[in-house]
Formats: sequence, C-alpha cells, structure tokens
Amino acid sequence: MPTSTMNMPAHAAETADPAETLLRTVECTDVEIVRFLWVDHNGIIRGKGVSRALLADRLRTGVGLASVRQSASLSDRAQPVPGFRAMEEVRVAADPSTFVPLPYAPGSAAVLCDLVNRDRSPWGACPRTFLREAVARYTEIGFDIVAAFEPEFTLLRDGAPLDDSLMLDGEGFDVANDFVVSLIRALRAADITVEQYHPEASPGQHEVTLRPAPALRAADHHVWQRAFTRGVARTHGLRASFAPVPLPGLRGNGNHVHVSLWQGDNAFCGPGGGLSEVARHFIGGVLAHLPGLTALLCPSVNSYERLVPGNWAGAFGCYGPDNRDAAIRVPSPLRGAETATTNVEVKLCDATANPYLALGAILHAGLDGLEREIDPGEPLAVDPNLLSAAELGRRGVFPLPRSLAEATDALERDELLMSALGSPRRELYTTIKRADVRDAEAMAREDVFALHARRF
Ligand code: GLU
Ligand code: MG
Repeated sequence: MPTSTMNMPAHAAETADPAETLLRTVECTDVEIVRFLWVDHNGIIRGKGVSRALLADRLRTGVGLASVRQSASLSDRAQPVPGFRAMEEVRVAADPSTFVPLPYAPGSAAVLCDLVNRDRSPWGACPRTFLREAVARYTEIGFDIVAAFEPEFTLLRDGAPLDDSLMLDGEGFDVANDFVVSLIRALRAADITVEQYHPEASPGQHEVTLRPAPALRAADHHVWQRAFTRGVARTHGLRASFAPVPLPGLRGNGNHVHVSLWQGDNAFCGPGGGLSEVARHFIGGVLAHLPGLTALLCPSVNSYERLVPGNWAGAFGCYGPDNRDAAIRVPSPLRGAETATTNVEVKLCDATANPYLALGAILHAGLDGLEREIDPGEPLAVDPNLLSAAELGRRGVFPLPRSLAEATDALERDELLMSALGSPRRELYTTIKRADVRDAEAMAREDVFALHARRF
C-alpha cells in the first residue's frame, strides 16, 4: 500500500482526490511554494517551484519545461542527440499523491512529477514512465512488485568526514544522533517509515533503511530520502553525500535494491523454504543482462571507484546466499517472518542511479528471465575473493564492466534493455554518459571525486 495513504481510513483513501487533498493541505498551512520535482538522466533531482496562488492551475495544466533539460550531462550542458528535437517543450505534470511537506525548508513542500507531452501523452524521456511501464508488464502476468532502496551516505563537515567511528559503533550513534533523529522525524511527517539506522564502515558513513513499498512508491521514497537527507544535513551545518566514493580512500556508498514479486503471497518464497523457481528465473534474467544493467545501476564515473572486488559492492557477476560481494545477494530470511523477508538484493547499484531507470531496468531483465525461464546456475556460497580467476571462470562468475565507458558499451550491446528504454530515452542516456566520461577524462582525479561529492 502506498504509505501516503497509510494513515487514512480505507474508504477515505479510495475516494479522496489527491489534488483536492493537496490544495486543502496547502490552504491550511504556511506553504508558500510547492516544488514540482523530477529526476534527470543523471539522477539529479530537478524542479520548478509553483507559488500557492498558481497551484490549482498548474496542478491541472502542468508546468512548461524545455525538453532539452533531459539531455543535460553532469556539467549541465545539453548534449546533441540525433533524432531528439531539442527546441521543444514538454510539461512537468504533478502526481499529487506524492505531495510532502519539507520540514527542513520552512514554507516549502514538494511533489514528484511525470514528464509528459503537451497533449499529456507520456513522453519517451520520462524516467517515472519507464518504471510504470515495467510495472505494467508484471501486472499483465499477475505479479505485484515490492521494492526498497538501501542507500549509504557520508556526512561531511567542512569537507571532512563527520566522524571516524567504526562500523556499528555505539559512538557513531551519538555523533550523528541529532541529525538522524531530525531526518527520521522529517520522513515520518511525509508518511515514509524508517526501519533501521546504523553507522556504517567508513568514516562519516551512515545508513538509514526505509520500509519496502510497491515499486513506483519505493523509487519515489528513495528520491525523498535523498532530498531529505541532504536538506536536513544542511540545517545541521553538514553536507550529506550519496556519491559512490565522495573522498579518495573512503569505502563506497552503495544503494542496494531489494526486490520481491507477489501474487497474494511472496512469489519468491519456495514451497519448502528457500527460493522459488520464479525467484531463480528472475535472478537468471538479471544476471543475463548484468553488464548492460551496470550502466544504469552504476551510472557515474565515480561509481567505478566503488565497484571493485572486496568492497562488498557486488563487483562479481554471480549470486549467492548472504554473499556480500556477489552482484546479487539472496539475504537469509528472518525466522518467523520468511514471507515478509524473502527477497533478492541487487548490490551493485549506487545512489547516482536514477531510481526509476534502475528499478525499471532490473524489472525488465528479471522479466526476461521469467519469460525464458533462465537458469541462474548454482549459487556461489563462498567468498569470491578467495577463488582464483580460473576457479571463478569454472563456476560461471564473470567480471563486471570496470568503467562507465565499458558499461555504456555493454548497454548498447544489450538489445533487450535498449529496446525497453525506447527512443529517445536510450539515445539521450548513452549520449549523456559518454559526455560524462569525456568531461571526467579532462579533469584531475581529485576534482572528479569532489564533483560527485557535491552533486550527489
Ligand atoms: N558499502 C558497501 C557498498 O558499497 C555495502 C556494505 C554493506 O553490505 O552494507 O555497497
Ligand atoms: Mg550497508
């Protein structure tokens, strides 16, 4: 169930018009401006603010946007993309059910948006539409999708890590307490439930996990989590960075994606415990498309500072039970909560990914596995770092792309993913990624770290 309706009686949730609810809420509060937000192809959250005076109108009409914005590289330069008509307008169309107050930005609220054509038909470069379409393919065959993103982030003060606490260190809880409590409260005010928090392995590194939700909501919640974490940190004089590696020498920030398919019950649970055939085929599909998927899950130049063996980032092309260096980990379910906790964790993803593209692409790959009944082979039950290259090869463990350029090549070779992305999304995406690679090549390595630490 979408968490934004969780506190309403069932009949009210069914009948309330979310646009009316939004307008009433704004009327009764001190909100002056509502940010109409979307996520660009580089995972940057962008927006246009609408004042309360114009809100009812713009909820109806959408807000104008030059379509060329979705061709911006990380340097914010629009990239020339063949077949893409840059001198055009699209509309930023609010999904009022996503409305949230921004407690860290008094007087402001925000709403997530689809990018649509002027006639309101879906635009082929809208990331949220891409995920909706992937979800619809599963609806056709009777599956619901539950997902959660699990991002790590680094807290910095004056450019240096806030703490040098150890992983799960009691001291780390104290250092970050005021920030973490404010963040949890801000998310709760947006009806987003935090499940767990802990100080992570690297200096300044922390992790806050959210309750799983239906796929589109899970991606929306991830956007809020990133925006809120950065916003709340700012009010505490901190910078929160989700960059894969914000400073040289730090361990990486992951953004693992947890997925399960449901048909009333969890369709990933096997009859006698363990994984079902559905889950195995889903994993088979994700593994089959993993090289191409890497361009969407590890989509920045900085991603490849993290995606190296031994980092628990999932740099080995394989899956395995609780295998933390496998691209796909099968977490052991909690006893007594097997149905709720059986899922597949795609580990390699980081938070420079556009969550709609990342989850949508995982779902398309998994669906290919279901349709072709792809056998994922034997799970890897040992630490892949302890195996020789020959032994890894013998067990079918393959290396992942080692740079954004290699990953983009792999994506372009993956016909299924390219066709799922569709046009002009695939041309925009690959052109932007190649521009980011070129720009980074012209920079000093420290500047590339700093750029990503700032932008994400
Ligand atoms: N920091 C690791 C990563 O980059 C993950 C560690 C963990 O398993 O929580 O994905
Ligand atoms: Mg972690």
